Amino acid sequence: MSFWKCSLLTGLNFGGFIPFSTVDWYGLAVSVLFFRGCPFRCVYCHNHLLLDGRETVDYGFVEAKIEGARDFVSGVVFSGGEPCAQAKGLVDLSCFVKDLDLAVGVETSGFYPDVLSSLVEGGLVDRVFLDIKAPLDDPQAYGEITGSAGDNGFKITRRVAESLDIVDGIVEVRTTLFRSFITREFVRGIASELLGRDCDWVLRQGIPEHALSEAIRSETQLSRDELLVLGESMLDLVSNLRIRTIENGEEKVSSALSATDSQ
Ligand code: SF4
Repeated sequence: MSFWKCSLLTGLNFGGFIPFSTVDWYGLAVSVLFFRGCPFRCVYCHNHLLLDGRETVDYGFVEAKIEGARDFVSGVVFSGGEPCAQAKGLVDLSCFVKDLDLAVGVETSGFYPDVLSSLVEGGLVDRVFLDIKAPLDDPQAYGEITGSAGDNGFKITRRVAESLDIVDGIVEVRTTLFRSFITREFVRGIASELLGRDCDWVLRQGIPEHALSEAIRSETQLSRDELLVLGESMLDLVSNLRIRTIENGEEKVSSALSATDSQ
């Protein structure tokens, strides 16, 4: 039993459940539980069917799904939507999963540092997959990408920076890239936030056809080679770097990989 005092969940705004996945936590087979709802409207969101609406399910429904898959997985990833926006459900379910001796992963935008802090302090999370969408010193870009008006970009970058500090040592940072906002300076701006931190970083190939924004849907997809070249140019700032593409799945970026590839 975790030392965190678990309370009884009354209902979760449920987005879906995948019993078995090998692509949501590098190196682990996991179940994935999707929470419905998110405060953002990212131009490239590929889970936009989960952003609105309500499908409330009770604790027993979710518990049965997790327990039904537990013999086949080593952990559960809470995804969305934004799982931290349903703080009580996330904490209670993390408790439940830990009590099953499974690992807990949380995929988040980082907009709820207080929730992450509760999870970390309670020993309820093993891995945080933090989506950093733009350099944290560029609130305007953050506001545009997340579809947030006015000064909200400042609020978002402040909170994401706080989250990054909280999850140091258990974090995998993820950045999804599209042709319309991929300049080397943009990506280096994110890399410089990660310099000296204990984290992994994954550059993900955005899939335009799945994006929320029509403008993004008309773009051509970045190739694996383009991501690789970009990744290599970040190695002076971040060494634990992978790219994730449809062509090759996840692969570690290193100068050796480049040398092998060019032969
Ligand atoms: S990409 Fe993530 S943070 Fe952005 S709208 Fe979609 S679910 Fe929300």
